Amino acid sequence: ARQPIDELIAGLTVDVPDHPEPGIVFRDLTPVFADGPAFRRVVDGLAAPAHSDPRAAALADARAGERAFDVVAGVEARGFLLAAAVALDAGVGVVPVRKAGKLPRERIAADYALEYGIATLELHTDSVRPGQRVLVVDDVLATGGTLTAAIALVEQLGGVVAAVAVVVELAALGGRERLAPHTVHALWTT
Ligand code: AMP
Repeated sequence: ARQPIDELIAGLTVDVPDHPEPGIVFRDLTPVFADGPAFRRVVDGLAAPAHSDPRAAALADARAGERAFDVVAGVEARGFLLAAAVALDAGVGVVPVRKAGKLPRERIAADYALEYGIATLELHTDSVRPGQRVLVVDDVLATGGTLTAAIALVEQLGGVVAAVAVVVELAALGGRERLAPHTVHALWTT
């Protein structure tokens, strides 16, 4: 039988204590991405929830036979690795949600809280068109601050968040609650 995806991810993820600062256990997913069959299952798994999310499913029903999202947004930097693969597989485009100062053209910005201070994410204003259904992807959901900002950017441009998908959810940090009413689809919740 095929190994459950959460066990597969858990088995390949390397926990790094006290990185990048004391008290943080960093979940290093690079071995998951480096393993071809595991990466394939992760990419498939991230795309799947857009089709089972009730909000996205309602939209998909209205456009029977079509995929449930029109574009994939990946959050810098590890979200890029995932979003590009998911988008290519689905036959849609990929757009980058970037850290401040990287995007060259007209853009919007959203601040979010870090453990110390604030950070900013940006999105080109022509990356998402009104009514486009966007699958938002990142590697790890911790407090949810990063994805809250990414969602705000997509919605500010009139995009519809079809689903939010992550590889790992750190449940104790409450990110899922923070992102409500958006549903988070996590391949491994720990
Ligand atoms: P947050 O905004 O708190 O949900 O943090 C999510 C972002 O920070 C994601 O882009 C993750 O890549 C990264 N991150 C936060 N905590 C961890 C962790 N313990 N291990 C790996 N990445 C993390």
